[in-house]
Amino acid sequence: ATPTALLVGTGRGAQLGILIKGPEVLESTRRVDTIVLDKTGTVTTGRMALQDVYAAESTDEKELLRLAGALEHASEHPVARAVAAGAAQRLGLDAGALPVPTRFENVPGAGVRGTVDGREVLAGRERLLAEAGVTGLAGLAAARERAEADGRTAVLVALDGVAAGLLAVADTVKDTSPEAVRRLRELGLDPVLLTGDNRSVAEAVAAAVGITPDAVHAEVLPEDKADVVRRLQEEGRVVAMVGDGVNDAAALATADLGLAMGTGTDAAIEAGDLTLVRGDLRVAADAIRLARRTLATIK
Ligand code: ADP
Ligand code: MG
Repeated sequence: ATPTALLVGTGRGAQLGILIKGPEVLESTRRVDTIVLDKTGTVTTGRMALQDVYAAESTDEKELLRLAGALEHASEHPVARAVAAGAAQRLGLDAGALPVPTRFENVPGAGVRGTVDGREVLAGRERLLAEAGVTGLAGLAAARERAEADGRTAVLVALDGVAAGLLAVADTVKDTSPEAVRRLRELGLDPVLLTGDNRSVAEAVAAAVGITPDAVHAEVLPEDKADVVRRLQEEGRVVAMVGDGVNDAAALATADLGLAMGTGTDAAIEAGDLTLVRGDLRVAADAIRLARRTLATIK
């Protein structure tokens, strides 16, 4: 009788837009008490847009946009896509018309660096530029603080080792996220927000969906996301993780239950136990309710 009931559960899952790797997944789903949510692309749409450009006094704004846009065009990160598309738009170009970097390196959780038109370009978090020994960063501090206070991600740009400007990128919270968090709480789960983004942006998103600041883990490096999950498990929690990015794959695999956004990357989908086909976080609550009900039927 047991296998039949489980299969009914998984069939109902498919109707709801949940793909379940195997019936055994339902058991961990039932026991979950904490749900860790990746911010970008999970709680937010991940479709970021360039909102604001600040060029340092020594820098021509068009040159800043052209070089930063060209470098970011080589990256697939949502922040990078917003910078490349926004820069091209402001320059009246197609993104494909931006120069192609002759050297390109992605620094996960931090930004990008490379060579464009013979210029050394760095774009990303302040730490990336500071560690590279960029001078003049203090000149960008006020613009960075303003962007972050507005809940925007600040992409700092350096040209040939000198701070050149800042591009402010904004994401939007999915319409469905506040309701999803409410439903997860109703099921008795504690929501936690996890992100590599800076704390002010993370807290602004948390406030918008009803997660308390003490449950926000911000500025977490990609390789440390799984550690956050592990620490919660060490506190005795049974942890579900919801994510969409390559960065989330290790955390999804570490969690007692990994839920991948169907709109996310293949690496996340492979690492997860469950896939939320439409990328709707409310369905995470449906999945947990379904698992509890299915197993209650069996017992
Ligand atoms: P998240 O956890 O929000 O999905 P990541 O761990 O991928 O974010 O990145 C953390 C932060 O590093 C981003 O919020 C951004 O500030 C910076 N960053 C990462 N990649 C890039 C990039 N290509 N260009 C600019 N900034 C980047
Ligand atoms: Mg993400």
